[in-house]
Amino acid sequence: MEKHFDIERLVRNNVRALQPYASARDEYVSDGSEMVFLDANENPFESGLNRYPDPHQRALKTVLALKKGVSEDQILIGNGSDEVLDLIFRAFCEPNRDNVITLPPTYGMYGVLANINAVANRKVALTKYFEINAPLVLQNVDESTKVIFLCSPNNPTGNTFSENHIETVLLGFSGLVVIDEAYIDFSNKESWSKRLQGFPNLIVTQTLSKAYGLAGIRLGTCYASKPIIDILKKIKPPYNINELTQRHALKAIGNHEKLQKQVDAIIEQRNIILGQLKQVPCIENVFATDANFVLVKVDDADLRYQQLIERGIVVRNRSNQPLCEQTLRLTIGTENENKNLLQNLNEL
Ligand SMILES: *Cc1c(COP(=O)(O)O)cnc(C)c1O
Repeated sequence: MEKHFDIERLVRNNVRALQPYASARDEYVSDGSEMVFLDANENPFESGLNRYPDPHQRALKTVLALKKGVSEDQILIGNGSDEVLDLIFRAFCEPNRDNVITLPPTYGMYGVLANINAVANRKVALTKYFEINAPLVLQNVDESTKVIFLCSPNNPTGNTFSENHIETVLLGFSGLVVIDEAYIDFSNKESWSKRLQGFPNLIVTQTLSKAYGLAGIRLGTCYASKPIIDILKKIKPPYNINELTQRHALKAIGNHEKLQKQVDAIIEQRNIILGQLKQVPCIENVFATDANFVLVKVDDADLRYQQLIERGIVVRNRSNQPLCEQTLRLTIGTENENKNLLQNLNEL
């Protein structure tokens, strides 16, 4: 197989050819002076929200670029990282022709998006240690394989994939490799966004939904080489990030202290709960985790799940995923929530 990365070969023909929507404010060149805006049919009465939001999210990209050590043209911002993932399908995967590779057990949205976009989802299971089987992944690649999705730390298993195996996939595949880092802030491993220079086919996605505690505002980020970002920008809805979200995200990203304090508290709780879960009678295995959740193997997942519901606690039953028979995924909560969970688990 030819390993040379050629973005022109990857992108869908209709996307290559299309003329993106030009928003009203993109059509004039500002000299910085105060303008009268009569171009976008907005209501002129100032409310702080009567204007369309910045379709390029310039202020946000400036702080993100500094924080992540990338340039602004290597960033795309989405309405949650789920939107970014959907844009990747729509830009690169021809419906009813192309395929992607996913590595179950993993985040369910890759498969759902593949179905929505009429793209075949080739599943190559992780090893029994939840590690990437890199040779098998590469064996499953054909000329219609556009994207390989790696989730690291992986949901629902919690582990980070080995750097070597990820590198093998990145170097051995001429299509795009998405590394979904939704849980990277809980891990002490370095983000792959630091290695964009070395891999022109690498896309890293992150989100404010987990560590930042902002699932409600819907903001996900994507870091990749400029040619990839340029294509995604072409098809992104111009006003996908609303004004309230942009302002809130800007504040949150600037408040590094709050993020670190909450992440530290969650990791401290994670370490406590990991030890305690091993003593619970109905729990047979506690898997290592780099995320804000832990996967446990129980004696009877359906029964324990239902019993917890009856006691007012909702966890995630992951038993229907490959390699995850009889497992529950437990999110790390507050100290009180975790104590409550532990006490109830011990009583089952
Ligand atoms: C939660 C989660 C997401 C979703 O992120 P949003 O930014 O809220 O859309 C993406 N990937 C993984 C692996 C997740 O667990």
